[in-house]
Amino acid sequence: MYALVDVNNMYVSCERVFAPSLVGRPVVVLSNNDGACIARSNEAKDLGVQMAQPWFQVRHLERSAGLVALSANFELYGDMSSRMMSLAQLHAPRQEVYSIDECFLDFDGVRGDLVARGRALRTQVLRWTGLPTSVGFGATKTLAKLANHVAKTAERKPGSYPRALAGVCDFGALDRAALAEVMRRTEVGNVWGIGRKTSAKLNEGGVRTVFDLMQADTASLRRQFSVVIEKTVVELRGTRCLEVDDAPEPNQQIMCSRSFGEPVTALPDLLDVASQFASRVAEKLRQQDGAAGAVHVFITTSPFRRQDRQHSPSLTTRLLRPSADTRTLVAAATRAMQAIYRPGFNYVKAGVMLVDLGPAGQPQGELDLFAPAGQGGPDDPVRRTPERLMQALDALNQRFGRGTLNVASAMEPPAPAAYHAKRERMSPRWTSRLDDIPHVH
Ligand SMILES: [Mg+2]
Repeated sequence: MYALVDVNNMYVSCERVFAPSLVGRPVVVLSNNDGACIARSNEAKDLGVQMAQPWFQVRHLERSAGLVALSANFELYGDMSSRMMSLAQLHAPRQEVYSIDECFLDFDGVRGDLVARGRALRTQVLRWTGLPTSVGFGATKTLAKLANHVAKTAERKPGSYPRALAGVCDFGALDRAALAEVMRRTEVGNVWGIGRKTSAKLNEGGVRTVFDLMQADTASLRRQFSVVIEKTVVELRGTRCLEVDDAPEPNQQIMCSRSFGEPVTALPDLLDVASQFASRVAEKLRQQDGAAGAVHVFITTSPFRRQDRQHSPSLTTRLLRPSADTRTLVAAATRAMQAIYRPGFNYVKAGVMLVDLGPAGQPQGELDLFAPAGQGGPDDPVRRTPERLMQALDALNQRFGRGTLNVASAMEPPAPAAYHAKRERMSPRWTSRLDDIPHVH
């Protein structure tokens, strides 16, 4: 069985850990430049605030409904994420980090009551980090994701599902009739990888619930949509067939993480890994015409190598301005790797994640007047056409294979703070900055 562990309203929950007065109030977190709502507390959802809704459209709720808006504090969220992940990984033999606030745990070969294990995990993460989570168990990743949705919804909206499923939901523990009833109550758009367009089309064809989808004819689905949706149905019926590469990307994040075949101890090797992963996510970012505002890098040792000392650091770096340029992203990732690395540890896994995503194009076209000559200043010929350079890079790598063309040296000195994104409502970096550490009186 797989479990999918997911923090409820991650960014808002991180803010509430250090500002308990926000508990119970409607809270939203705003994207880069305070433009749009990228996270909402349940109370804000109940006010009708939509995901990605522009701030100016809901600003009136500040006065009328006490809505609190905060600027995104990715340094804080990244740090809280690694605390949560390192606790979660203690509960199962294998962990796969899926996004900043979600991971899959592989419980194959683990005996006993999974619901009890899920509850123990939730309790520990809440007590040790202050973050509320939901846990879903299923035979495939698609089912675990869906079970998580059920666990979360059952808790948030009493009456939507049986109360016993709130917080932790194990599809494997339900009998056939109960499972069918859950699937009948769940709209097809809640299935992992089924987006708004696909679900509208499915609805037109009479497929409204997950139950309908599970009964559908896979061959005609493949013809009408794609092989991916066929795989989704096979997964919903309990057969594993999604590989890492065709699993849907998380919303609002792009990520590359791998376990190493052998433990890695040397910094140059890890810098190389950071550079490769950052190049990969940069390419994915450009495919969706996005720009990233921050880069999150993590490495971990293995808690199952009992003889080893443990070290699982991470660092989130905010970029001077949102970027989709491989050189900028690789530089940020390698600098972060250098900062978190400690000699003498056996690292078994690393990841690079792009967060705070927005559309490409606006602010990164600005010239950096404070950059050294030839490095992004007005006289840099490459700086004037970075999009074309990146197009050429992608075209060559697509034609001749990944890694044909790489960034040679990624190490750059930190850029001067010539440009500051608007972050007027940002909370202190409670956990990652000495000056900001909370005081207890
Ligand atoms: Mg979440």
